Amino acid sequence: MHGTRGSIPQPKQTTRYGGNTSCYEVLTDDFQIIFDTGTGFQDVALDQDRMTVILYSHFHHDHIQGLPFNLDVFSHLKDIYLSSALVNRQVLKNLIQTYFSGGYFPVDIVNILKQLKFLNCTTVQRKLAPTCKLDMIELNHPGGSMGYSLKTEKGKFSYLLDNEYSNDQLDALLEFVDDSKMVIWDGMFTEEELKNRKGWGHSSIEQACIFADQANIGELRISHHSPSRTDDDLDTLSVSLTSAKASFAVQSAKVNF
Ligand SMILES: [Zn+2]
Ligand SMILES: [Zn+2]
Repeated sequence: MHGTRGSIPQPKQTTRYGGNTSCYEVLTDDFQIIFDTGTGFQDVALDQDRMTVILYSHFHHDHIQGLPFNLDVFSHLKDIYLSSALVNRQVLKNLIQTYFSGGYFPVDIVNILKQLKFLNCTTVQRKLAPTCKLDMIELNHPGGSMGYSLKTEKGKFSYLLDNEYSNDQLDALLEFVDDSKMVIWDGMFTEEELKNRKGWGHSSIEQACIFADQANIGELRISHHSPSRTDDDLDTLSVSLTSAKASFAVQSAKVNF
């Protein structure tokens, strides 16, 4: 886990749970799979032996802004595959190129870095098979967002950022995460905060606990922490988590499958 914060990096009083925006790295025997390149991506060491794949849930700035701030991206000799189940490879390339261009960013990384290869998600699924099975699910978020699961013989990992949970998702989500060792859940808000933030595209910490208890999973890590929530706030909230399977994601934790 390299980025556990939502919306904007937060360096104040977040050293334990993490202040960088969304970025999760999963290492399997054969692959280095990175979910989103928020500012946490700056701390990812690109793997020299495994194939590196970056999967985007969506393209809100907190999920892409770290891409050119990882120096390995500029020196990596192997291809770095970028993909998203939300759009095809050409749209993905245009989105990334537009975000890092013109008045917004000084370097046209998409043109300069030939090792960045944009793939359709179906192509990524084929490249990962048969040792790693990649699935995806549509989430509820303004502009869309895709959740992912990875399954190897060592276990299953599910990533569900960003998502505004609604009850009509329950059956599909339970089936999607079934048998996961770990699920990443968007718990940006508390139930109380969520009352005034309907339609913002995020779920609550309380919903995370209810879901964790209903699901056939090992554990659920609540992520996309609100930028206003300090380490002490999260410690206090930890005490009130009602599910033994739920905890707050900690930026420095490792995820190996
Ligand atoms: Zn986000
Ligand atoms: Zn978003």
